[in-house]
Amino acid sequence: MKSFYTFAFTAAGVVLGMLAGFAGKKKNKCRRWLTLVLVFGMAVCVSQAFVMAALNAAMANVSYAVFYISIDWLLYSVLGLCEDFTFQPPRRGVFKKVFFWYYIFDSILIATDIFTDIVYSVKAVESSGTIFYVSEFHLLYQIHLAASYIISFVIGIVLVSKLFKVSTIYWDKYILMLAGFVIVLILDALYVFSDRLIDYSVIGYALAGVLFYYDVDVYKPRVLLGKMFRGIADNECDAILLFDTDNNCIYINERAKQFFRIFDGELDRCYEAMEELLSKSHIDRTTDYYNIICATKIEGVKFHLDIEFHRLRRSGREIGYYYHIQDKTADIEALEKGKYLASHDSLTGLYNRDEFYHLVRKRLNEEKETEFCVVAADVKDFKLLNDVFGSHNGDVVLQKISDFLRGFFDDSAFVCRITGDRFCAFLRRDDFDEAALKRDVVKILDVNDINYPLSIQFGVYFIDDTELAVSQMIDRAFMAIAENKEDLRNRIFYYDSETKEKRYFEQRLTGDLLDSIAKGELKIFVQPQCTADGKIRGGEALVRWDHHSEGMLNPEKFIPLFERNGMISYIDRYIWEMAAKTLRKWKDSGFADRYLSVNISPRDFYFVDIYDEFHNLVKKYDIAPSQLKLEITETFMINDIDRKQFILDELHKDGFIIEMDDFGSGYSSLNLLKNLPVDVLKLDMGFLYKARDMDRCRKIIRIMIELAKELDMTVICEGVDDESQVHFLDSVGCDIYQGYYFSKPVPLSNFENLLDIPAKL
Ligand code: C2E
Ligand code: CA
Ligand code: CA
Repeated sequence: MKSFYTFAFTAAGVVLGMLAGFAGKKKNKCRRWLTLVLVFGMAVCVSQAFVMAALNAAMANVSYAVFYISIDWLLYSVLGLCEDFTFQPPRRGVFKKVFFWYYIFDSILIATDIFTDIVYSVKAVESSGTIFYVSEFHLLYQIHLAASYIISFVIGIVLVSKLFKVSTIYWDKYILMLAGFVIVLILDALYVFSDRLIDYSVIGYALAGVLFYYDVDVYKPRVLLGKMFRGIADNECDAILLFDTDNNCIYINERAKQFFRIFDGELDRCYEAMEELLSKSHIDRTTDYYNIICATKIEGVKFHLDIEFHRLRRSGREIGYYYHIQDKTADIEALEKGKYLASHDSLTGLYNRDEFYHLVRKRLNEEKETEFCVVAADVKDFKLLNDVFGSHNGDVVLQKISDFLRGFFDDSAFVCRITGDRFCAFLRRDDFDEAALKRDVVKILDVNDINYPLSIQFGVYFIDDTELAVSQMIDRAFMAIAENKEDLRNRIFYYDSETKEKRYFEQRLTGDLLDSIAKGELKIFVQPQCTADGKIRGGEALVRWDHHSEGMLNPEKFIPLFERNGMISYIDRYIWEMAAKTLRKWKDSGFADRYLSVNISPRDFYFVDIYDEFHNLVKKYDIAPSQLKLEITETFMINDIDRKQFILDELHKDGFIIEMDDFGSGYSSLNLLKNLPVDVLKLDMGFLYKARDMDRCRKIIRIMIELAKELDMTVICEGVDDESQVHFLDSVGCDIYQGYYFSKPVPLSNFENLLDIPAKL
């Protein structure tokens, strides 16, 4: 039996010694203390084996000394290990220091006990014919024992207090260590209260040593790490599914459970769920890694998933695989929305200009053999509609028009909103059906809820030069409309060589204008304004361009162009100045009572300070403001009414006479007359006489004149070209006449010759 224990204790010592060797090589934090624990544990076992094997009392005595000293330092090392393992704050270091010095003292005491026998003494005891050397304790041994219990108590406190502070996932770690410790204490107690022939507590030391080793070197890095990874995976907001090599799902995190609607105990369904998800994607599934984005529907809701597959290998052999799935639905939807917004017009949902350019160019490059055309659409007087009915109604109209265009052109056409009220379509030339467009467009003209005569004009450019920039193709389609703006009978116009010619012509005029003004090519023609008996009271200054190469140009050739591009103000300011200069000349020659009317274009307000301009002119030429009459039109008052009214009021206060030109030609708003300081109403007979029922027309004219009189306005009738008109107008109270019946516009010098001479002889 003795030799059995000798062998067992030696074996335990060898095991601990080997573990000490392993622990010493590891690089973890507790390495030093663990090695010491195992080394002293080994010393405890081996010294006890020597006690068992002792041949005489002296040998047993020395072995006991080594045994007790080893226990001292073993306990001390366990304290160190626990402190390190539990990350105790350094103040405990004081405790350790005290124990250190005590154990130095105790070790010396025990070492010298061989000679002094003051701590213990060895006694031979016989049992069943075998001699056992047991130690008998003396007073100082009790102190040694008490110190051992105190340090054990401290170790116990360190471990238990830690248990209260940490998450339960760490409990195993400390409980393992505590268990090793408790085993030692129990076996030690058994020994103390037994016959003490054999110290069984040594087995406890060996077991505890193995446990400590396992806890520090095996459990902590592996098991705990695994637990922590799982914790991370559980809290991860992406879905994670882990499979073994037989396609059994061995782990699925919370997110994945929610996502695939998988409940506990249904892990088998994971494999099917993943297979179904991946069935539509054509990827090589044999690789160790792949990453795909796939769209799927889960319970009717659409998802975009980013699926990452990882095959797991150890030493080259597959041990399983896992999926990491991110929900990218929000990102992809935002991206798609962004793409849509970047390429579409937000109001109408049609392509925007950039996208249209891009698509057209691409299509032209791809289908070189096909003939295409560009169809432009422009809403006539859209600005007026917007101003009168509000931008909300304007938007509704634009949406209706775009719905129409989208529906009218087939899916192979591209339809876009270029700007405001300008639309454009690109389609195969053969697909363009003029008759159908003419017929169908009438429907939207009726559909608009607001009571407004909506009119849409179309310009068509058959692309004959595919090298042209897309913007130029569109320009050409719109040019076809611009050239025919006044054509109220037709709706669809084609870009042709004539249009092209006109375009070049306009470009030339634009380039020439400033030079021509400087060279005096712009002339004033004056159309006399007479009383019914033909007496000239004054005249309207009308511009003519005596162009160096084009000859004498009438205003209709260039006024609309310069109104479009804003250059009209150069012409007007020049004419106003010439008119003022002329009035000054007349004043000097005794004709101070004659006047000249000048035209003010709506665009002038944006480019010229009208008030300053006229104020300065009358000052500069020292003429009466009432001699320089100002003609404005109704369209002039479409927007920015307050500011314009203010300016007109100021001019009126200064003595200028304000004339409302072409009254009756447009959307004659009686409202305007209510607020504006208008002194003269110019009725355009040309427009009025276009009416079918002359009788009704005459009634209207009569009432308009009556109204003007009520408002203390002078009435001028323009476009009077026959005698009967004069008779009628005279009978209803017209004051002044301007028209071919009396005189066409004539050069200024001719007009001056006519002054005071009846125009019609
Ligand atoms: P408007 O201001 O209404 O000028 C009257 C136009 O009617 C003149 O054409 C004149 O020749 C024409 N007219 C006068 N009586 C008769 C008639 O009995 N029968 C017909 N068929 N026509 C008649 P014009 O001079 O060709 O001017 C055309 C338009 O050009 C003018 O219309 C005016 O809007 C614009 N315009 C002319 N000169 C200027 C200018 O210096 N500045 C601006 N902003 N516009 C101008
Ligand atoms: Ca005029
Ligand atoms: Ca007029």
